[in-house]
Amino acid sequence: MKKTISILLLLLVIISGITLASCEDIVIIIKQSTTAITTTKMEHILPVDPPVDDHTHTIVIDPAVAPTCTKTGLTEGQHCSECEEILIKQEIVDALGHTESDWIVDKEATTSEEGSKHIECTVCYDVLKTETIPMLPVVASEGLRFVLNSDEKSYAVAIGECTDTNIIIPEVYNGLPVTQLFESGFKDCEFIVSIKMPDTIEYIGAGAFSGCNSLKNVTIPDSVKNIGGSAFYGTAITSVVIPDSVTYIGNWVFAYCKSLTSITIPESVECIGANVFNGCSSLQYNEYDNGLYLGNEENPYSALISYQDRTITTYNIPEGTKTIAYGAFSNCTALTTISIPESMTYISDYAFISCTALKTIIIPDTITNIGSGAFRNCSSLETIIIPDTVTEIGGWAFENCTSLSNITIPHTVKYIGWQAFKGCTSLESIIIPASVERIGGQAFDGCTSLTIYCEVEEKLSGWDSLWNLSNRPVVWGYTGE
Ligand SMILES: [Zn+2]
Ligand SMILES: [Zn+2]
Repeated sequence: MKKTISILLLLLVIISGITLASCEDIVIIIKQSTTAITTTKMEHILPVDPPVDDHTHTIVIDPAVAPTCTKTGLTEGQHCSECEEILIKQEIVDALGHTESDWIVDKEATTSEEGSKHIECTVCYDVLKTETIPMLPVVASEGLRFVLNSDEKSYAVAIGECTDTNIIIPEVYNGLPVTQLFESGFKDCEFIVSIKMPDTIEYIGAGAFSGCNSLKNVTIPDSVKNIGGSAFYGTAITSVVIPDSVTYIGNWVFAYCKSLTSITIPESVECIGANVFNGCSSLQYNEYDNGLYLGNEENPYSALISYQDRTITTYNIPEGTKTIAYGAFSNCTALTTISIPESMTYISDYAFISCTALKTIIIPDTITNIGSGAFRNCSSLETIIIPDTVTEIGGWAFENCTSLSNITIPHTVKYIGWQAFKGCTSLESIIIPASVERIGGQAFDGCTSLTIYCEVEEKLSGWDSLWNLSNRPVVWGYTGE
């Protein structure tokens, strides 16, 4: 029998093409050859264990494998390196499982942003849980002073006894909303670094933060409709986003903000007051054909702030411009023609004051307001057609337009401002339509050639008692002859 086995083993060695074989090799060869020789035959032929006296095992230690948090380990074992017999079987050791840490804060919550925290394994540092930390409740500054507004339904706020460097204004005081920053309410508070306003604030009073020369961080909530004159004059703010709830930016609002580099002006802004950006020496403008514009991502040319070259003779304001700032073209004495795009709704105060060479201007039928003094001292202006979209003609709008001989006021106009046509010495006739509810004082003073044709039968109560101070002849109940 032994002989037969030996022959068979030798045969197998030949089949496998291996000439030298240890006891280990042969075991492997037998396993490989089972594909060629049927297993059933082999089972009959081969003994389970080689004879004990054949060799002394060469013991090899199978080292233990330590379990980790997620993987099983093994105990130490032994096998024979010659016959592969397992002498001590390696046992599976269960995985350890993670060891949870306490909560670890990744980002502290603030009053404006959620924070985050996590639990990790103290062994493998795997992140096991993540959670957000809710925003901190806004704790309003103490010592602020509140003044009941005239509507008796809301409050205005001022610095009072507060000494915080980071001012937080509450939404509500005494059960009523805080809607205004009091005029000059925080003026010259040099210790204020930041101001947080609730979105109940609708009006930032004139001079509210004027002279707060440490004030760097301001977020204007999108409840604000109106920013009063000089509100941020001389502050240290570096960038401002005007929310699209704002329609009007008062005079000098950001003047002398020397660190101000960027400002976003939304298309909602119809009117930009005088000298708003005076002394803002770091401010980056968008330039278009010598005009300096400010705007927003979608429309960088939303607001024409000023024109660099006062010697220009003609200029086309690009389509898309919503407003031109106070005095943008003042004293462009060589300017003869200018086109106003249909994207504009408002001709700002003093926009073309003292453009003494300006002969004609076409006002597009998108304009609703002609600002105060818009064409004052335009002494060459002969004809102006006011489209029937205009509802207001501001005070001094055409004062001293000494060549103006022809003007038509459409039936949409409700208001003619103080001294609007004062000194229009060439004007011989003007028809006041019945729609005009209010006329300011001295509207036609010094119009030495003028006869006024009024569609109404008599002076309306909304007309100033001094509306026709220099007693120009008036035809009442005018119907077009
Ligand atoms: Zn062995
Ligand atoms: Zn772990």
